[in-house]
Amino acid sequence: MIRILFFVFLAFLVWLAVRTLGSSRKRRDEPVVPAERTIETIQQCAWCGVHVPAAETVSLPDGRIYCGVPHRDAALQVAGPDDRSRS
Ligand SMILES: [Zn+2]
Repeated sequence: MIRILFFVFLAFLVWLAVRTLGSSRKRRDEPVVPAERTIETIQQCAWCGVHVPAAETVSLPDGRIYCGVPHRDAALQVAGPDDRSRS
């Protein structure tokens, strides 16, 4: 009786090994599908001219776009806060 159980257990282990190897091989063979691509708008900083993704930009109400808060603040200091209303 113990022998039968041993062989059943052995067969289970073999089945498990084959299944694991088969699924990992299948996973490797699957073509790598890139994640859904999103078209990201790139915009140019009005201060330094670097191109950055639109999601990372800081903009002023007049439409000027900056790569970050430091460049926005630098542009405001040079132009003066009153310059925002003019354009
Ligand atoms: Zn910049």
